[in-house]
Amino acid sequence: MTKTSENRNEYHAVSLSGGKDSTALLLLMLEKGMPIDCVLYADTTMEFPEMEAHIAKLDNLLCQKRGIHITTLRHPHGFEWLMFDEPKVKQSCLERRAKLGVPPYGNGWPGAKVRWCTGQLKTHLIQKEVNRLKKEKNALHYIGIAADEAHRCKDDPQNCYPLVEWKITEAQALQICYSRGFDWGGLYEIYHRASCWCCPLQRIDELRKLRTYHPELWTRLRDLDNRARAMFGPGPLGQFKKDWSVERLEERFAREGAQTT
Ligand code: SF4
Repeated sequence: MTKTSENRNEYHAVSLSGGKDSTALLLLMLEKGMPIDCVLYADTTMEFPEMEAHIAKLDNLLCQKRGIHITTLRHPHGFEWLMFDEPKVKQSCLERRAKLGVPPYGNGWPGAKVRWCTGQLKTHLIQKEVNRLKKEKNALHYIGIAADEAHRCKDDPQNCYPLVEWKITEAQALQICYSRGFDWGGLYEIYHRASCWCCPLQRIDELRKLRTYHPELWTRLRDLDNRARAMFGPGPLGQFKKDWSVERLEERFAREGAQTT
């Protein structure tokens, strides 16, 4: 018997990232008639339009089947405010910035070492709410980690990993979503990932596709990067990718395009 069916009296909170694994989890929980009291989704404010449509479609289904809506959590100011406007208060940080000629506000581009966005826009928001639900409602927390990613599971008696219990892999999760008509408007056919379109940690190949398939987002990315470079200079805060600004990537992709025509 799974942990999920043993605890009928507890509150059941599902985390939804919007990606294939958590979507498959939610779809299967609905189909299997498992209890769901809330579905938590953190909106970074930098999602692909296709992802926004996907969340709206899931929300419709959830409302039809269970009469509840997805609970969307958002940072009060969002990605751009954190990137350009958040005031810095720590004395050591202010002194370091003054020495480097960097303004006393804004976090600049996130990087592998300082990935401020994931915490502030996703994990802290979800974790805070989950901790509250666990404490106040003795909630079970359902997390969509696939069987081939089981090493990411945490040993917490209030966490449930049904995809691991059901031995559903990432590839199977995607097929489950497709077979139920959830295809993200083709997003996974183009990209390997479906998180923030502006992510500087994505591969150059993904950025090349962004320029081709989402030119309006590519233009926004160029604007963000121009603003970051003007404000923070050539240091890590103003650097989109090591050795690559978005302008330079634009030149590279345009050159590549000219060579293949
Ligand atoms: S996808 Fe990239 S930009 Fe978005 S929160 Fe994650 S690391 Fe940050």
